Amino acid sequence: MSRLQFLAHVAENKCTGCKQCEFICPSGAIRMAEKRAKIDGDRCIDCQRCIDICKKENAISRAPRLSEVTRYVDHKNLDPEKVKTLCEKAGVLPDLPICGCSRTTGKETIAAILKGAKTPEDLCAMTGLRSGCGIYCMTKIFQAFEACGIDLEEPKDRRWIKLTISLDDLSEEKVVQIDKTFPQYHMGEDWRKLKNRAVTSVTKGSVHV
Ligand code: SF4
Ligand code: SF4
Repeated sequence: MSRLQFLAHVAENKCTGCKQCEFICPSGAIRMAEKRAKIDGDRCIDCQRCIDICKKENAISRAPRLSEVTRYVDHKNLDPEKVKTLCEKAGVLPDLPICGCSRTTGKETIAAILKGAKTPEDLCAMTGLRSGCGIYCMTKIFQAFEACGIDLEEPKDRRWIKLTISLDDLSEEKVVQIDKTFPQYHMGEDWRKLKNRAVTSVTKGSVHV
């Protein structure tokens, strides 16, 4: 669940139409029209990633909404047994958040898919999921769609890659490649910290990382 008081706003006279914001927006709220970025306020979750990526042109800012909106999908009018079974199939706990940023629970995620979410962007717009890092919840999102029988097609612009492996499973070569494509996620930095921590733990006689 997310409560939103702001949304992104584009100053069209500063926008160069570079599409970087469209590429990074997790909720699919940005589309290009007449070579300028346009924001769909019904999808924007105020994550501010577009503002960060547009630092040079400084074309995007936060604007107050006319009134606060809540992004939440209620599971109560759905069959509780069905929701529970799908949570189990997806490997998520119904009452625990699958996203540390929005605190969206397993059952809300499943409910959103049952109520029409077809892509990770739809899930984000409906629940606020992926509003922070946009990384750690992705595996659970893929599993939730799979459990509900939806075979996600990777977007052609590679805004996300359907991988369900953990950071620890990646080779250094792969991490360098991902770092080049998505420098904003600092994945190499995290991967090296994880590896160093593992080496330190083993040296100290512990197997925990
Ligand atoms: S990142 Fe900035 S300049 Fe580029 S399309 Fe978006 S608003 Fe326009
Ligand atoms: S959801 Fe985030 S990236 Fe997309 S328009 Fe809103 S603030 Fe920008």
